[in-house]
Amino acid sequence: MPSSVSPVEIDALGVRAEAMVNTLGTISAESDRLVRLFLTPEHRRAADFVTEWMRAAGLTLSEDALGTVRGRLEGRGKKRLLIGSHIDTVIDAGQYDGSFGVIAGILAADHFRDKRLPYGIDVLAFGDEEGSRFPATLASSSACAGIFKPEMLSLADRNGVTLADALSAYGKSRADIPAAAYDRDEAAAYVEVHIEQGPVLETRNQPLGVVTAIIGQTYLNIEFLGEAGHAGTVPMLLRRDALAGAAEAMLLGETMARESKGEVVATVGRIAVTPGATNVIPANVVAIFDIRSGSEAARAKFAESLKAEVRAIADRRRLGLTITSTREIATTPCHPYVQDQFADAIRALGAEPLRLGSGAGHDGQAMAKLCPVGMLFVRCRGGISHNPAEYASPRDLGLAVAALIGFIERFEPDRFARVS
Ligand SMILES: [Zn+2]
Repeated sequence: MPSSVSPVEIDALGVRAEAMVNTLGTISAESDRLVRLFLTPEHRRAADFVTEWMRAAGLTLSEDALGTVRGRLEGRGKKRLLIGSHIDTVIDAGQYDGSFGVIAGILAADHFRDKRLPYGIDVLAFGDEEGSRFPATLASSSACAGIFKPEMLSLADRNGVTLADALSAYGKSRADIPAAAYDRDEAAAYVEVHIEQGPVLETRNQPLGVVTAIIGQTYLNIEFLGEAGHAGTVPMLLRRDALAGAAEAMLLGETMARESKGEVVATVGRIAVTPGATNVIPANVVAIFDIRSGSEAARAKFAESLKAEVRAIADRRRLGLTITSTREIATTPCHPYVQDQFADAIRALGAEPLRLGSGAGHDGQAMAKLCPVGMLFVRCRGGISHNPAEYASPRDLGLAVAALIGFIERFEPDRFARVS
């Protein structure tokens, strides 16, 4: 099936998308950087813009108990394709992360406003993907998926405001949260368009990619216990230096990940050193290893090998050791049928549908508990995101919207149900 969107229309969609991204990019709590947190006045203002855009696209509006804005295009059948992303940001964010996915959904739905599709479309603008305000993520999509945990309501932000209080201040009632959940018979699939947030598409010179899975994650909190001592008087061979042990473990983790040939990535982005004085041998170090892989088996194997090697390092260096797993998130596979329809839609635009895993987390992880999910990635400059330098060209944005339109044309909920 050739693309039903002409090159001229693709350019026009890209220009519209960029203008909308720029508009949301101005809505911030701070004048010199982009900060838009869940259930804040900025969230409200962004949600109001999204509401207006959805209305202009001919969608029927509603807003659920977690503040997710929903724009509905009725179809002939009961089944609905859910298209979403988030309008919250990290602190000092770029403009494209999340916002563009919502905008792509609105522009694609607009394309079908006068055509009655065999299924309906709901465009969803979630308010809490980044987890920048409360110490939890995916509250909004969890409510849509029917897996919202009431314990989340007592989580507090930096100022001691709980999620429950913030929701009330936003005009929402916790009693309405269960009603935010979609009916399983109704939700055919959830798809999301997102900037890649990595350099693969740019390196391969392709504008769009099909996501194979949102990759799983393990956090290992590794604590080394040594002995503090004078940096001038304790001979080298008598030391029990916790930081030197941690450094050895970090380099070993890096080597093991490099040797996995792209299967596993491992990072230590944060260490705490006690007592942390220039002239004192470090007594205690906590290093958190962030381990990710699209393969559950590879991630588990890596974590086990790392633990064994770290134990050997600690033994050799006579260091005490505790290892705690503080996060374990399973890989969310993208449905093969959704992947194939996205790939077809990309091919119809004359591009090569590169398949790649998502190293970052997304709302699809929660939505996968409700229905099959899939994602389309858009090339971003330098692979940079969570940074004001985040950028995707209007041409690529236009191609992404056109690919989403192509996906909608190809999507058949019934055929899908048979291959699910
Ligand atoms: Zn995002």
